[in-house]
Amino acid sequence: MNTQQVQTTCPYCGVGCGVVATVDEAGSVAVAGDTHHPANLGKLCSKGSALAETLTLKHRLLQPLVNEQPVSWFEALDHVASALTQTLATHGPDSVAFYVSGQLLTEDYYVINKLTKGWFGTANIDSNSRLCMASSVTGHKRAFGSDTVPGCYEDLEQADLILLVGSNLAWCHPVLYQRIMAEKQRRPALFIIAIDPRRTATADMADMHLPIQPDGDTLLFNALLAYLFEQGLCDENYIQTHVGDFENTLVQAQSDSACEVAEQLGLEPALLQAFFEKVASHSRTVTLYSQGVNQSSSGTDKVNTIINTHLATGRIGVPGCGPFSITGQPNAMGGREVGGLATMLAAHMELHDQQHQRLVQNFWQSPHIASKPGLCAVDMFEAVNNGSIKAIWIIGTNPVDSVPDANRVARALDACPLVIVSDVCANTDTAAYANVLLPAQPWGEKDGTVTNSERCISRQRAIRKPVDNVRPDWWIVSAVACRMGFTAGFTYQCAADIFREHAALSAKDNDGTRDFDIGAAASLSNIQYDNLAPFYWPWKSGNAPSKPIRFFASGHFFTADGKACMKPVKAATPGNASLSNHYPMMLNTGRIRDQWHTMTRTGFSPRLSTHLGEPFVEIHPQDALIHGIQDADIVSVGSPLGSTLLRASLSNRQTPGQVYAPMHWTDVFASRARVDTLISSVTDPYSRQPASKNQAVFIQRYEARSFAYVLHRRAVARQLLPDIQYWSKSPVENGWRYEMASALDPHALQALITSLFSASDNTVDDQSLSCDDEAAGKFKRAQFIGSQLQTLAIVANEPVELSRSWAQQLLTENWADKSQRYRLLAGRASADQPDKGAIVCSCFNVGTTQIEEAIEHHHCHTVSAIGERLQAGTNCGSCRSELQGIVNRCSHTLNRKCTTSPSRMT
Ligand code: SF4
Repeated sequence: MNTQQVQTTCPYCGVGCGVVATVDEAGSVAVAGDTHHPANLGKLCSKGSALAETLTLKHRLLQPLVNEQPVSWFEALDHVASALTQTLATHGPDSVAFYVSGQLLTEDYYVINKLTKGWFGTANIDSNSRLCMASSVTGHKRAFGSDTVPGCYEDLEQADLILLVGSNLAWCHPVLYQRIMAEKQRRPALFIIAIDPRRTATADMADMHLPIQPDGDTLLFNALLAYLFEQGLCDENYIQTHVGDFENTLVQAQSDSACEVAEQLGLEPALLQAFFEKVASHSRTVTLYSQGVNQSSSGTDKVNTIINTHLATGRIGVPGCGPFSITGQPNAMGGREVGGLATMLAAHMELHDQQHQRLVQNFWQSPHIASKPGLCAVDMFEAVNNGSIKAIWIIGTNPVDSVPDANRVARALDACPLVIVSDVCANTDTAAYANVLLPAQPWGEKDGTVTNSERCISRQRAIRKPVDNVRPDWWIVSAVACRMGFTAGFTYQCAADIFREHAALSAKDNDGTRDFDIGAAASLSNIQYDNLAPFYWPWKSGNAPSKPIRFFASGHFFTADGKACMKPVKAATPGNASLSNHYPMMLNTGRIRDQWHTMTRTGFSPRLSTHLGEPFVEIHPQDALIHGIQDADIVSVGSPLGSTLLRASLSNRQTPGQVYAPMHWTDVFASRARVDTLISSVTDPYSRQPASKNQAVFIQRYEARSFAYVLHRRAVARQLLPDIQYWSKSPVENGWRYEMASALDPHALQALITSLFSASDNTVDDQSLSCDDEAAGKFKRAQFIGSQLQTLAIVANEPVELSRSWAQQLLTENWADKSQRYRLLAGRASADQPDKGAIVCSCFNVGTTQIEEAIEHHHCHTVSAIGERLQAGTNCGSCRSELQGIVNRCSHTLNRKCTTSPSRMT
């Protein structure tokens, strides 16, 4: 059979891994890591490895809709163009806004930004990247005069010390984490310190973990600066020549450090001292940070205190050194390059700079140019809420789930006169509020470029012919612009046209005054663009594409005097001042290993759903005891803005007083698990990035009277489940798994489930099995059609005990032998199929029980030994940190059963 190979880029995180997709004649796709791509050198994590499984058409938006009615593209574009024209004419440019995504390609971003700032004359375009790394952008600009990431991934392999701050790299950027761990294996002296309030999977693999109080980072890094000065480790020559405002910064740092730093941070003084000494004794230091730093009311200050320590020691611009912001999204960097945020112009030019305004307007030949910042994400939805924004176009993102105070976002969109949503998926929580839905091309069908966290620009290529009737985002926006009469600026024929223009603008009157310059790409032919290999910026006209370049090696920065600016920062008080008797716990939100954003893609992969298949809240056992919560209970987590229902996972990864919940689950996948409905709209005053990781909440056991586990071949509409207070669904092979808890008694829940799941089939089963124990409140049902299991429902008056890893395969089995069917009601595998426990390695389907057994009975006391015996961790490697965590725990408790993530309810 003929196959075709396409080199493309993973659409998930800011590592930006190269992918080779192999497509056969039948259209089947297999993916592998691209060994030639400099970011990943052939590796992919669990999410990247499962990309081919997400190419289904089942959940796709495939038809333009206006007011829920299918229309042609012609009608849809006319409708949008005329509605926007009318809104602009009646209410002015600031009445219109775009809210876009770090998932967009650079070419999409460029066109949207150009239309907004050059033709509409407003800067009301912001991105979900505001939620991810805006504090880094602002911190970079304050320190360097430009939004520049100084270093590259190789620095992580050349460093002697890596500080991972507010970054669960092992789960959120797994391939980069594996590069670090591979280097650690080659060079054990490489020292890794994790700074995080939680003991994450990353902390498990680190040499030292500092579980600081939330938002303690500014105090920690101010104290570090004061210590480095005291030890004579500040580089006076470097400071003299290349750095401004050192004295004021030091005075502020010393004044903060005069207090009881260790106590405020919640650290043992000896641990803090050991941290200081490690940084003092390792000149080749990289400080890598992400959302734990950025998503804070003091996010920008955190970034600057980190940068301050590097500037004071001259640990920047040289191999193995530097502050390093790693982005969450695949093209957050590309968005910044085109100016796709409300606070930027284009090509790293400034909105407030009149020379830049003139340059961009002349280049675009546009009727307008935005000259003041537009509304940032949270403020933008407040403006929709208060009616000052009358029309919003949301592209490739799901703000009803991901923006803080998410219920307010929903109310705002409900009341907004015009909501246009361009998306790949038909049924997101945001799409439910759209007047106009426009089907966009997804990964695998679209074509353009993305930039990863180390400034490497790579092609994202179509690996199959686009489905009829879906269009590239740049095409949709350009078509609307042309219908609005802006033909001159938007007659692009292909993505390459846009990229060349973007590259030319980056070089326009640049002469080294701006960091972002890819002028060499302005003359690429279409064929050269098609074949473009990954390259790093800057790539100036006349130069060959090069290996990664470190910025600031010469000590020159993009400020007026060429010096970097140290920033005096008054340290934030660690903890949360809003805690009260009603809201006594600090909620930290984040990601899990195998899900991405609001699960619009990964949520449909059975393999990715084996790892953590339910929305959960991690609680320290001490807090659980205080609140009468047991493992696997359903817990109400609430703030003044709303409440959620989540599965309790007791874990000493949490510090007492703090809880953690992932932000992925939406109304598509659970009854009430939208964690951003709890988060208030507090933002950093400089970057306007929301503080998503430190919310005062209550936790309370939900007094469910019944629990259920249901396997079924089809999903049931959310509207049919109002009487089931807690439910979550996740895909399994050939169907769906539901977990439920309700206020109904078990008998009533069983009756409801029977009616719901039978009704949705509209067929008659040919055999039903049941096993009821009314007195014990336990009911079990299995329904078959032919040789296929149709439904398995187990209801109990307590959390259902069942081997999930065994049950998830049941819909794939042949049940023609009726004598075997009764074993279903036992709720566990037969003796010849031992229970695997909760799945840790999703590539080889290896569970905790197997790993525990390998450690206890086969002396597998290292991750490698487990890999040799069970294969776990030997493919994508994303579970290696978790394997290490199990090894660590079991080595202390070899005589008793070790546990991991009980929320998975093995
Ligand atoms: Fe994709 Fe994983 Fe690489 Fe991130 S680390 S780009 S999610 S394969």
